[in-house]
Amino acid sequence: MPVKPRLLLLCSLLLFSAGTASASGQYLLLSHDPEFLLAIEGLTDTVYDRGRVRLVTLRVPEAGVPSDIMRFLRPVENGEIASIRPQPPQKLSPDPAVQAVTSLADQSSLLSFTNAIVASGKRSTRQLDLSPSSGNRAAMDYIYAAFRRLGYEAERQCYKDRKADKECNIVARRRAGTPGARAVLVIGHMDSVGYENAGADDNASGAAGVLEMARVLSRFRSDHDLIFVAANGEETGMAGSQACARLLKASGELARVDWAINMDMIAWNRDGVMNIETNKEFSSHADWVAAQAYTYTRLKPVITMPAWGSDHVPFLEAGIPTYLAIENWEDHTPCYHQACDTADSLAVPYAADIVRLNLAVIAGKTRLTPAD
Ligand SMILES: [Zn+2]
Repeated sequence: MPVKPRLLLLCSLLLFSAGTASASGQYLLLSHDPEFLLAIEGLTDTVYDRGRVRLVTLRVPEAGVPSDIMRFLRPVENGEIASIRPQPPQKLSPDPAVQAVTSLADQSSLLSFTNAIVASGKRSTRQLDLSPSSGNRAAMDYIYAAFRRLGYEAERQCYKDRKADKECNIVARRRAGTPGARAVLVIGHMDSVGYENAGADDNASGAAGVLEMARVLSRFRSDHDLIFVAANGEETGMAGSQACARLLKASGELARVDWAINMDMIAWNRDGVMNIETNKEFSSHADWVAAQAYTYTRLKPVITMPAWGSDHVPFLEAGIPTYLAIENWEDHTPCYHQACDTADSLAVPYAADIVRLNLAVIAGKTRLTPAD
């Protein structure tokens, strides 16, 4: 029998004490890809499985586990893990200035961005080895043009030569126009695992969320620089976001980023629950974000820690308060990383609410004024 983890139930707070890695021998799974889960079946026992957090112990000595599996198993630290359902604020007092921003998020616009990205074809970065006109390239070109149409400076931030093309993030900016202005960054990956015209939830939805936020915010001036990133290569080890964090650090821009938001899989849902994922040191930021969810949307936020497996991780590792907005992982899309992840199964009103939440966060933390 696997050892049951020790659970502490405190009001709405659920904390899991995993013990030190050496004491417990427990590892956090850094991938929930169906093929990966199959690959570890004979090697591990699951000892805890709740939402985003799955812990395993090894059946064999660590040296006997292939390195391409071991890199997705991370020893857990004591007190690192939490799943918290915060209470709504005592009194909901929405700010009309914030509502003026969130009310501009539009479902049909979000869906049309999503559909256009899905229609790009096969969006895996591996396609960049095969053809100069791949689905991945079509998605990059579409997103680049969309940012330009919205009036942003757009950049192909290329970080890897592929056999037939370059692998790039698409980065859009609008400067505050004041010297030394602080910045905020919004990211969502545009690549998929590679099925033709699929990857709708993972993650055309999140990349479309980035575009929809850019569309709404194009109508405002901000006292912060706005940086939007459609990341590439997430499905091959967060290659794009790792490169983005590295390049922005080298240019000095990262030092001006106050906080960042990642959207990955925001459009499959049945119960209104969403996860806000970060690391323990930024839990108070996540509490504040959850309060915005109650104030400005119909979402039911659950804060989950620690962060793993998506583009928020490189920014957290750089010390930037960052959260991932993601669908309820306890009931996520049954088509995760499969060909059936198509646009017809998406909960668009729910995805639009996640966009509204992230707009409320930006409107609450920066000063926005109408552009005209
Ligand atoms: Zn994803």
